Amino acid sequence: MSLIEEGLTRSLHSSDLRWHATRTRDVDYITALGMAGMHDKLASKLYRLVTTMARSAYFDVLPDVMHKAAGVARRRGWKVADGEVPGIARQALDHLVRPACPSCHGRGFAELAGTGRLSGVVCGCCRGTGKRPVKDGRVRDLLAEIENFASVIEAGVARRLFARG
Ligand SMILES: [Zn+2]
Repeated sequence: MSLIEEGLTRSLHSSDLRWHATRTRDVDYITALGMAGMHDKLASKLYRLVTTMARSAYFDVLPDVMHKAAGVARRRGWKVADGEVPGIARQALDHLVRPACPSCHGRGFAELAGTGRLSGVVCGCCRGTGKRPVKDGRVRDLLAEIENFASVIEAGVARRLFARG
């Protein structure tokens, strides 16, 4: 976990949002997060979803992901049947919520049967990536454009908190 990630995770659960003149405190992270989010609403909503896992956050971002999917569909010339784009958007969003491979739980190696411990054998389901495989190329296209949301937000926070000069 990076310093920024740690600070954000702590701040989002903080019960002390007092400000300090010279030290960077939780309130500064929250402020920077809000400002970073204004410049990229989709990234901001996705960040809120994965950090809170709140049902409301899922339904808040879903229309934005559908809108994004419609744009990607046009640009990449997807072959889609009528009304298929929302389903693709939902699959991509579900992947962001549960990205870990269901077989190895993100660890990349197969488990020794019945022990829960890892073997030295690469997971056959994800081929060692630890990520849930995405079969539909259109879902992969969409993911490629939205899955960097956390680094977008964290870079925005870092710029605002630690930029000097
Ligand atoms: Zn796996």
